[in-house]
Amino acid sequence: MDSSRPVRHSRRVRQDSPATPYLQAATSRGLEVCVAVLKELSAVEAPTDPRTSQRMSRQRTRDTAAEWALRRLLHARGLRYRVDAELPGLPRRRADIMFPRRRIAVFVDGCFWHGCPAHKTAPKSNAAWWAAKLARNVERDRETDAHLVERGWTVLRIWEHEDPEHAADLVEAAVRSGHSGP
Ligand SMILES: [Zn+2]
Repeated sequence: MDSSRPVRHSRRVRQDSPATPYLQAATSRGLEVCVAVLKELSAVEAPTDPRTSQRMSRQRTRDTAAEWALRRLLHARGLRYRVDAELPGLPRRRADIMFPRRRIAVFVDGCFWHGCPAHKTAPKSNAAWWAAKLARNVERDRETDAHLVERGWTVLRIWEHEDPEHAADLVEAAVRSGHSGP
């Protein structure tokens, strides 16, 4: 658990952090992205060099694009959902897409941040710090999964590199399967 961590959105962004490119991107793309960006930024206390900042910036952009693509497809298929929704019993963790009545939580996991086996990379500078940080991310993901499953939730994790149509098929099948209610 991460009870020692401060509330995410209240953390200040340092002037020398990689905030600027993210926030510029957020300005041009709207509030929703801004929230997602801040969520990711606030998880980063990184010592950075310019190359790492660039990598993180690209990574976050792709991640967001993957979320958007999936949400757009789900919406077009008539599904309605919550975005960036707080998880039950885990107030500091959020699902990218949630179907609360179905108890389905969908996470679109960035390949870098969440350790995709096909695409994960290891920053060269501050290598030990990054290794620990990324390992913690993966550990936290598994904790989150276990927590939700124990409470009867279905957890769907989609890698950002996955085909959005395929991801939408998976989500739609889960939402439309079995259960009663809308
Ligand atoms: Zn990947």
